[in-house]
Order: sequence, then structure tokens, then C-alpha cells
Amino acid sequence: MSILTSPLLDAIPWLEHGFGTREAPRSQEGMASLKQIHSALSLVADRPEGCVGEGDALLTQETGVTVSVRTADCFPILLADVRRRAVAAVHAGWRGTADRVVVKALERMQAEFSSEPQDVIAAIGPGIGACCYEVGEEVGRRFDIVSAGRLDLAEENCRQLAGYGVPRERTGVIGMCTFCDARFYSWRRDRESAGRMISYIGIKH
Ligand SMILES: [Zn+2]
Repeated sequence: MSILTSPLLDAIPWLEHGFGTREAPRSQEGMASLKQIHSALSLVADRPEGCVGEGDALLTQETGVTVSVRTADCFPILLADVRRRAVAAVHAGWRGTADRVVVKALERMQAEFSSEPQDVIAAIGPGIGACCYEVGEEVGRRFDIVSAGRLDLAEENCRQLAGYGVPRERTGVIGMCTFCDARFYSWRRDRESAGRMISYIGIKH
């Protein structure tokens, strides 16, 4: 189980995707990547490999291009427009989620590829769960759903996806907590020794 997959995305024959664990290869070699800055910026991959620029969502409609993000507690979110055949990899921590990075990625997919929300499948990978994610008042104030100082970022992203029009039955949540589960890297648990996990999605040749 070094790479996890989403059953919803597994069902699409022209896609390849995965959510990395700490046992998975850590390199983004052969993939397009970002200099992640906890923003809501989306970029279209203009090359099959290497860093495309600063941002936190990476889109492509090119066959053979795999887009990727790195996380450790933040949530990787993979998007696939099954009608227009376009994909995106999104990095969503609390800052990105507060700035609606997943909605911004969907808006960019609509602008670039004419993607409609009802055609999109979304898969939310492993990240820090509400079980372990205590946040201070300043962060909590950015969200309506924080209760007892605990923040459920996966649920917040589900709400944003649903609010944009992605059908609930097309949104999958892996539901594993990177802090509780030692199979994952966790920034909050491991601090400087935490590695990063690679999540990716691409359109096969
Ligand atoms: Zn937990």
C-alpha cells in the first residue's frame, strides 16, 4: 500500500493517479510540479516535467502530462473532468482552503477547458483529520465549521466542491489522518524530519 487510489478515479480508464504514502517514491521526476506557496493560484502545466511556477493547483488537458503536488498534513485533492478530459492536482492546507483554492482550480478549469462542475470527479486524499487538527482562534475565525478548536479541512473542501456544483456522489474522501497514521508523513507530528508525499494525476497515452 505505498500508493493509495480513489475508487471513483480508478473507474476512469484513461486516467492515472495516486496519493503517496511515506513508502512511495518521493521524486516528482517525470511529473509537472509547483513551487507551493499556500495560495489559491492555479497554473496550467506548460511542460511535462519540472516546476511550472508558484501556485497551489496545477492543471492540464495534455495527454501524457502528469500534474503533482507535495503534502504532509495539508490535503492533496485530485480533480478530473470526465467529459473534457482535463485534470488538476491541488494542494489545500488551511490557508489555501480559506482562500478556496479548490474552487479557484475549478474556475480555472472552466475558463481553460470549458469544464462543467457536474462532469468533475473529485478525490480528497490523506491529510490531517479533525481528530488531530486543533487550531487557534485566528485560524478558526476563517472557517464556520470549526468546533471546540478542531478543524475538519476535508469536510470544508467537500462543502466548497458541493457549493460549486460538483455532485456529492462524485466526491470521494480517502478519510485517513496523516497525524494519527504512521504510514504518512505529518508536519505537525514530525516537524523538520517530516518528508513530503507526492500525489499525482495524469491523462494516459
Ligand atoms: Zn488524527
